[in-house]
Amino acid sequence: MNILIKKITIAIDGFSSTGKSTIAKQLAKKLGYIYVDTGAMYRAVTLYAMQNNLVSKENFSIKKLIKDLDKINLNFKYNEELGFAEMFLNDVNVEKEIRTLAVSKLVSKVSTISEVRKKLVAQQKLIGKNKGLVMDGRDIGTVVFKDAELKLFMTASAKKRALRRYKELLDRGDDVSYEEILKNVEYRDFIDSTREDSPLVQAEDAIEFDNSNMGLEEQFERIYNLVQNIISK
Ligand code: C5P
Repeated sequence: MNILIKKITIAIDGFSSTGKSTIAKQLAKKLGYIYVDTGAMYRAVTLYAMQNNLVSKENFSIKKLIKDLDKINLNFKYNEELGFAEMFLNDVNVEKEIRTLAVSKLVSKVSTISEVRKKLVAQQKLIGKNKGLVMDGRDIGTVVFKDAELKLFMTASAKKRALRRYKELLDRGDDVSYEEILKNVEYRDFIDSTREDSPLVQAEDAIEFDNSNMGLEEQFERIYNLVQNIISK
């Protein structure tokens, strides 16, 4: 049976820097599916809030941000050269800016706001309505696509995750320390798992992957086998 005949929804949730997006991108490429990085959407809203002085370490103008939500237009545009879709905020490519530590420090705060989540979840549902989708985030298997045919939950030790993120940011030329990255990873884990609206929890029917000591190839192979089992049924 041609595996491309049946289109399914693959939801990948988990803690920050567990390599969700790397696996999701690879899977989407191999299957000819759309890949959606929902973290990029929360990061773009956060960037908007920062640019408009609505959020900082000390302050958060929640009401103003909610009022401004209609002015926030998010789009993914596929970049052929990079092989994935980049995030555009009001028609400006913000792919690089949304990955800075400054955004990472504020994004979990912004993501607690139900109105923000409502707007982004509606857009995510629309993008994925025809299946053939790999979506990663925190609430994909529990809220956005509860009926996803395959749900994965990625974990790894905070130290391993911080080290991966630290190397990524160093490669980009960002001036960061391992200690502040570890602090940010632990802070986001806490806020994301304890917020009231759509906290990060493992869906009952999700398969857990602890990749602290698992290479990318092994991980991909195992996940790809799971996909093939579902598609060929
Ligand atoms: O995936 P990434 O680490 O880029 O996500 C950044 C932040 O966006 C998360 O720490 C979380 O606060 C928020 N997020 C969310 N729900 C999602 C995806 C991301 O709350 N589905």
